[in-house]
This record gives sequence, C-alpha cells and structure tokens, in this order.
Amino acid sequence: MSNLESLVRKNITALKPYACARHEFQGEASAYLDANENPYNSPCNRYPDPLQVDLKTEIAKLKHVRPAQIMIGNGSDEPIDLTYRIFCEPRVDNVVAMNPTYGMYEVAAGINDVEYRKVLLNTDFSLDADRLLAAVDTHTKVIWLCSPNNPTGNLLNRDEIFKILTQFKGIVVIDEAYSDFSTGKSWLEELDNYPNLIVLHTFSKAWGLASMRCGLAFASEEIIAYFNKVKYPYNVSELTQMAVLEQLSGGDKFKNVWVKHILEEKEKLIEALKTVPVVKEIYPSDANFLLVKVTNATQIYNALVQKGIIVRNRTSLALCENCIRITVGTPTENADLLNALMHCGSM
Ligand SMILES: *Cc1c(COP(=O)(O)O)cnc(C)c1O
Repeated sequence: MSNLESLVRKNITALKPYACARHEFQGEASAYLDANENPYNSPCNRYPDPLQVDLKTEIAKLKHVRPAQIMIGNGSDEPIDLTYRIFCEPRVDNVVAMNPTYGMYEVAAGINDVEYRKVLLNTDFSLDADRLLAAVDTHTKVIWLCSPNNPTGNLLNRDEIFKILTQFKGIVVIDEAYSDFSTGKSWLEELDNYPNLIVLHTFSKAWGLASMRCGLAFASEEIIAYFNKVKYPYNVSELTQMAVLEQLSGGDKFKNVWVKHILEEKEKLIEALKTVPVVKEIYPSDANFLLVKVTNATQIYNALVQKGIIVRNRTSLALCENCIRITVGTPTENADLLNALMHCGSM
C-alpha cells in the first residue's frame, strides 16, 4: 500500500481533534467538576467513555485482536461515513465498489460528494478482481467489498480478495456484517498482514442488538487513530455500552444458539420455497437471508404487503431483476410467508 499519510486528506492530518474532559483524566476521582454535568441523576448524568475502553477490552478477547485495533461506531454506518471523511477529498478522489452491494456505501459517497464507481459482479454474483482493479485510477482511495454480500448472500472468493489487497495501493474495506452466519474464515485474521485492510462487523444482525446501534471497524492501530480523531467524541451512548457489555458477559453462546436456529430455519425455508410456483430461483446464501427470483417481484412484494408480510423488493438492482430478499424469521413467520406465497398462485 501507499504510505498511510499520503492516503489521508490533508485537512484531517492537520486537524487538531477536540479534547474532551474525559480524555484528559484517566482513572477514578472523588469529584467530577470538569464537564459541566448535572451532579444528580446517576448514571445518565455523566458523559460516556469516549474511547469505550471496557467494551473494547471484551470485544478484543472475543475477536482475538488488540483493543487499539478497534473502532466502535454508532452502527457500521458511522465507520462507513468516516472512511470517506478520512480518506476522500470531495470532488477529487473516488472509490470503487462492486455492484450490486449494500446501499450505504453509495449514499455515504453522495453525502461526502465523492465519486462512486460501480463494477458489476459476475452473473453468478462472484467477484472479478481484475474488473474492479481496472476501474481504479490515481485518485481511487477506497475499494468496498462486502462478504457475505448484501443483497446477493454469497461469500466472495478469497483469492480474488487477496489479489485486491495486494495489488491496490489504497484502503480495502471488507464488510462482514453477516460473517456470523457463514462458515468462511473472517478477514480479521489477516489484519496484521495487510496495513490497508479495514474489516467491518456489527452487533445488528446475529447478535440481535440492531436497536443499540453498535458497529465495529477493525484495522491497523494507525488507521484506528484516524477514526478516533474524526469521530464525534461521545459517539456511543452509555446505555449502548452497558447493553452490549451485558450481552458479552455471557460470551457468544446466545448468539451461537440464535445462529444455529436461524440456519436450520433457512434450510427448511429453502426446501419449502422450491415447491412454490412463483419461485424461479433460490440463490445460494452464506447469510441469514435469501435472494429469490420470482415471476414478478413487484406484484409479489405488493401481495405480501397486503398480508402484512414485508420483504425487500430488489428488482431495480443490477443482476437482481425480479428478485426479492427474504430475511429468515421465526418458524411462524416463515410459515406465514410460505402460505402467502402459495396464495400468489402463479402470478
Ligand atoms: C445490516 C448491514 C450492516 C449493519 O449496519 P449497522 O449500521 O451496523 O446496523 C452493515 N453492512 C451490511 C452489508 C449490512 O447489510
């Protein structure tokens, strides 16, 4: 990779970050008179730990990384946005992403006024590294990868990703929001080998904590220091830090039980969907959702809405004509979905 400082926007390198009260002092004191807080109404009266030290200690153990390799965000959306703000000069730099993929990378590019270059996946949704690398120019700062990919559900081929990590001089982000559901190895294991790698995880999917807004970016200590410099000082609330710590106090056993149930239900759902007349194709999935090609996605989406069942109509995305994306739910929810699909006849 190029040296990190040459990839970072000059204003960010020069930035003097906000020094918050809780940064200057570490430890326990008898009187906190430094932050203009109300002394009553504990514990909500106090600002939360800006660097989430206790939570990072637990996450580091769970994920086998060092605490200084972790950035905790207000959902993964925060590190996605901050990646643009750290590396991409508006109207000058660009990023390259696969198509179709998760919509937030493009939205965050738009908000930051950064050119977003989309490169089609193969028709079987596999990744062609050479095609992505061909879209790179001297102003490309970031390549976005998502594995397992949303909305297609598949893991990306490891050799193609290795090719991008070694040949591209800028930052490579691999979003593993769904990795808990897949048997693939996490790219976290490669963190120490690739200084240009950022891996995203989240508590929103397998961990059942979407409302807590807790996303994770893992990278070199140097990259994490830039995240810490640019993020809002108190970006993760005390309630979120407490709730996630509480969940982690049981290790990952609840998460693993949920994942096991969801994957069993996924297999049952696949078998049942094969017998539904409007279903044309069920794509292989390494995640907790299925991308399904149907006879007419918009009509079927609307028919399901009428019955109070909400899926995602993905028909307007590249390579996803007449596809709906179905999250695997509870046994009852899945049975209701199947029943409603059967009532679509051969729509
Ligand atoms: C759901 C999802 C996320 C999670 O976003 P949060 O902001 O952490 O809730 C991240 N990436 C992808 C690809 C997703 O589908």
